[in-house]
Amino acid sequence: MENKNRFSVLHSLGFKNAIIIILIGIIPFLVCVPIYLRAYKAVSIRTDAANLMAQAAQYNNQIVTSGYILGEHNSLLDTELKAIADSYNGRLLIVNSGLTIVKDSFSVDVGKTVIWDNIIRSMQGESLYYYDDNTKYLIVSVPLSNSDGKIVGTLIINKSMEYINQNLDIFASYGLIGAVIIISLSVIVAILASLHFSKPMKKMSDGLDAIIREYSNELPDVKSYRELEEVSEKFNEVIKKLQAIDQSRQEFVSNVSHELKTPLTSMKVLADSLNGSEDVPIEMYREFMVDIGDEIDRETKIINDLLSLVRMDKSGAKLNVSAVNINELIEHILKRLKPIAEKADIEVVFESFRPIVAEVDEVKFTLVITNLVENAIKYNEEGGWVHISLNSDHQFFYIKVEDNGLGIPEESVDYIFDRFYRADKSHSREIGGTGLGLAITKNAIAMHNGEIKVRSKLGEGSTFDVRIPLNYIEKEAH
Ligand code: ADP
Repeated sequence: MENKNRFSVLHSLGFKNAIIIILIGIIPFLVCVPIYLRAYKAVSIRTDAANLMAQAAQYNNQIVTSGYILGEHNSLLDTELKAIADSYNGRLLIVNSGLTIVKDSFSVDVGKTVIWDNIIRSMQGESLYYYDDNTKYLIVSVPLSNSDGKIVGTLIINKSMEYINQNLDIFASYGLIGAVIIISLSVIVAILASLHFSKPMKKMSDGLDAIIREYSNELPDVKSYRELEEVSEKFNEVIKKLQAIDQSRQEFVSNVSHELKTPLTSMKVLADSLNGSEDVPIEMYREFMVDIGDEIDRETKIINDLLSLVRMDKSGAKLNVSAVNINELIEHILKRLKPIAEKADIEVVFESFRPIVAEVDEVKFTLVITNLVENAIKYNEEGGWVHISLNSDHQFFYIKVEDNGLGIPEESVDYIFDRFYRADKSHSREIGGTGLGLAITKNAIAMHNGEIKVRSKLGEGSTFDVRIPLNYIEKEAH
């Protein structure tokens, strides 16, 4: 059963694209807004602190020279400083060098001693600020110095920074609106993009569906993006290959059926004619039985050839490789074929240039030589000759089977290695054969990583050149 989950929307390209687009839209927003808000807060605090320090410095002289720092009464300064503190919604304190509060705009802590790190540092000349995140107050401490430059106290101004929070709230609400707009836009873009991306995919998938259901045998043109166009082209190539394989399989099956049927039909005709006539002389019985025997031989040969082919065709079919003395093997095969050659009055000559030992599958290699020499004898004329030569270099050994027989018509040369192909159909029957010999030969040579080539001229003869590596190297299984 197919895993349905794989086909759910969550696993679709469109959905994944949509998520990526939405994230691309939102993540920068989520990252940038908090950074911007923090920066706004930091800049506001720093600017306000600088302004407060500048303002405090303006009052330095008035506070020091008027003796205000020593606790003297000055209602004008009281009012002015109180007005400043009120305008900041804050508080203003003056601390003398003995760290005692001499003025307080709230008038509650005068006379008390304050020990705070920032005040102590300001007493040494530093202008400092501190922001208290809990109370939202900015506290600025500025040294007060007399005309000699001596520090005589510190002016402390507290300012409420509540307005920052109010502004941040406003920014946040604008941010929220922005987020809603960005999310909406991202979703719209994501939907459009997913439609754009998935449409050609859908078209391709429908096309493949049509092929699976056999409504069509080609994918429609998918004009979209390059990668998908490439995939669709490759699909079409694969489909064509599969169709070619299917066609050749069908041809093969129909050829096999035809070839197997022919001897059976002949036997049936022979048997029927014997059964149908009365008082058949014994000689005729004998003659017909010999013919039936021949047809049985032919049927057996076809079946044997087919079995050899099927065995070699099986994917993963292995060679039974061993070191074989090729000279001896060829001589042995020729000895077996000698009676056929003599019967047809054909001279068979074997010429070996050197002794050769090669790694081959003896049974399959025997089929190669037997088929080639048998053909050279079969497709020959009385008084003809067959030359077999054997040679090698450091990498390959070469076998040449040459005859001065019938030759192969030019238009047939490309097909003689095909299964059941027979060049001279008119003589085929009397010469015998199945049309499978060269297909077997070619397969066996290919399994040895070798090559076979043919040159032929009608009426003059044919030459088959075989080249096989001396050492067998097993191809990697894929
Ligand atoms: P067959 O059983 O018919 O011999 P093969 O596959 O061995 O089948 O050969 C295919 C065809 O190639 C033969 O029918 C024949 O027409 C042609 N052929 C093969 N070898 C020769 C040759 N030496 N000379 C001429 N024709 C040949």
